Amino acid sequence: MSRATGGDYYALLGVPREASEADIKKAYRRLAMEYHPDRNDGDKAAEEKFKQITEAYEVLRDPDKRAAYDRYGEAGLRGGGASGFSHFDLSEALSVFMRDFGNLGGFDALFGGGERTQREQRRGPDVKVTLRLTLDEVATGTTKSVRLKTLEPCATCGGSGAKPGTKAKTCGTCGGSGEVRRQVQSLFGQLLTVSPCPTCAGEGTVVAEPCPTCRGDGRVKAEKTLSIDVPAGVADHHYLTMRGQGVPGPRNGPRGDLVAVLEIAEDPRFERHGDDLVVDLPVSFSQAALGAELEVPTPYGPTTLRVQRGTQAGTVYRIRGKGLPRVGEAGRGDLHVRVHVWTPDKLTPEQERLFKQLAEHEGKPPSEDAAKVFWKQVKGALGL
Ligand SMILES: [Zn+2]
Ligand SMILES: [Zn+2]
Repeated sequence: MSRATGGDYYALLGVPREASEADIKKAYRRLAMEYHPDRNDGDKAAEEKFKQITEAYEVLRDPDKRAAYDRYGEAGLRGGGASGFSHFDLSEALSVFMRDFGNLGGFDALFGGGERTQREQRRGPDVKVTLRLTLDEVATGTTKSVRLKTLEPCATCGGSGAKPGTKAKTCGTCGGSGEVRRQVQSLFGQLLTVSPCPTCAGEGTVVAEPCPTCRGDGRVKAEKTLSIDVPAGVADHHYLTMRGQGVPGPRNGPRGDLVAVLEIAEDPRFERHGDDLVVDLPVSFSQAALGAELEVPTPYGPTTLRVQRGTQAGTVYRIRGKGLPRVGEAGRGDLHVRVHVWTPDKLTPEQERLFKQLAEHEGKPPSEDAAKVFWKQVKGALGL
């Protein structure tokens, strides 16, 4: 084994000399991901490495070339003479990579790109709308109408973009496949590069006589009203995605999505804690002392709460199932009713007389410790 110059192809790929074809392919793929120019911001060293590993791969994946290389080294591949690496230019290297991985979806999948089909109809854009909801609407779920300024398929040409009576023709550049294949002569034989057709932008057809209404785009400006079902229990900043409800692509391309972002207005009556709600209930001294049946607001209409005799300020009553629905589930949260004992700030002479009379008869307020225990219970009930 003697070679004048150059690196060792096996060493470049980091595989042993007895490596299988599958191992070689795997090793190349991993390295190519690392050194691919798309991932290295034009770094020259990475580019050089990418070219070298691609060259090594291109030799070792081919049993004949690999045998010649094993026997005679690099010189065996050229029928004499020898030189270092510099055989592959970047476009050749890229097309090798694309040939073996790009068309299989490997490139896109590994680089996080989108799916590519051969004949590519361009998808229309997504539309984002904001839906403002009240808490009552959140409680019950609702259907909202939104008016959209959008594009819709052109009625004149049925969305094809072609003048009525004419048809889009098969693209002469790509023959309808939507991609252009180019043979590139390289050291190791002919290589094939594949890219979207520049004439038809990958669509496979071209409009020879454009529709006068849409000028060949297949879409016209339009307004439309959509109704959006909003499930019960949603929260601020949730969003709903309606697949295929956005803007159509040009020339009957698939539609984008409609994305509705939800904004929930503050409700002056309620504090929201997830599915639970908290409401403040003012009660008078005598109601707190004697007990009372009082009306409490809920998102489902008012309900009656029995305030116990001797209720302290800050007491929290829980009304089960009167909170908000759990989104996508059965059941609802609870409504917590926080009692505020209201102190009158203006007294009539009669009230003044009665309060003074009461003052002579009322008992002592609780000790400081008892008050602390009470407030602890209140906080516990509210989950604070
Ligand atoms: Zn074309
Ligand atoms: Zn048209």
